[in-house]
Amino acid sequence: MKIAVLVKEVPDSYGERRLNLTTGLADREASDKVLDEITSRAVEAAVSHAESADGVEVALVSMGPESAEATLRKTLAMGADSAHHVLDSALAGADMTLTAEVLAGVLQRIGCDLVIAGDVSSDGTGGVIPTMVAERMGAAHATSLDTLSITDSTVAGERAAYGGTVTVEAQLPAVVSVTERLPDARFPGFKGIMAAKKKPLETYTLADLGIDAEADVPRSIMLSVTESPARTAGEKITDEGDAGKRLAEYLTEKKLV
Ligand SMILES: Cc1cc2nc3c(=O)[nH]c(=O)nc-3n(C[C@H](O)[C@H](O)[C@H](O)COP(=O)(O)OP(=O)(O)OC[C@H]3O[C@@H](n4cnc5c(N)ncnc54)[C@H](O)[C@@H]3O)c2cc1C
Repeated sequence: MKIAVLVKEVPDSYGERRLNLTTGLADREASDKVLDEITSRAVEAAVSHAESADGVEVALVSMGPESAEATLRKTLAMGADSAHHVLDSALAGADMTLTAEVLAGVLQRIGCDLVIAGDVSSDGTGGVIPTMVAERMGAAHATSLDTLSITDSTVAGERAAYGGTVTVEAQLPAVVSVTERLPDARFPGFKGIMAAKKKPLETYTLADLGIDAEADVPRSIMLSVTESPARTAGEKITDEGDAGKRLAEYLTEKKLV
């Protein structure tokens, strides 16, 4: 069985996050580049399953700039078997349609039974790539799973729903997206780091995948981009016997209740 994990390199959310106001893209030089935490949890789920079952192979798949290669190498140290990186300058600023086409192209090329993705990335926050990839692959799809259980022929998990929890199951091949409720990722040990240096890491261009980024198909077009306003200091309410009333007035005024 082969599990592919969609991993994304993002600007560190603990560092400065800036938008390039000309291109509208994240300014990737403004902070360190790290593996998106949600995707590290997806890798953990895949690697844990590989450790507990026979014949399970874990492949990492990413589309991103050159720096993503180092991030993939570090992620291989968690125990995945191989990594697949799509690197092409024509992809800078790719919208979600193109991103999904590219990721599905790699997945179809390497072949896999199960794809695990994060439910939403911490930079783009589109939240639809896994669904678009499933559609392109013609595979079953389960979204926003808080737990994951994998067998040779199925994948199942729990999804929080309004007022309850829903358990869903799909036959493989399937694409699932997971939430930050999955267990934390492990820290790679020295042995894992050394082994990762020798693991296969393949790089693909758009031409390798037969994809034309300029094709005349519907794409989303960014019309404008503005920075979020700087944060202002909050309002302090000192209790002089009327704090509850003033708090309620404040919440009502801001239309929060
Ligand atoms: C040169 C280059 C520069 C880029 N610059 C930016 C940038 O500045 N800002 C930005 O947001 N994106 C950038 N991308 C990536 C790409 O444009 C976005 O990944 C894409 O639009 C998906 O949006 P999202 O992250 O909001 O998806 P979501 O739907 O929120 O992502 C959900 C899940 O899908 C998977 N996924 C999403 N994108 C990728 C990916 N690229 N590779 C592997 N798995 C993925 C992950 O598992 C993720 O948790 C760049 C790509 C390239 C090649």
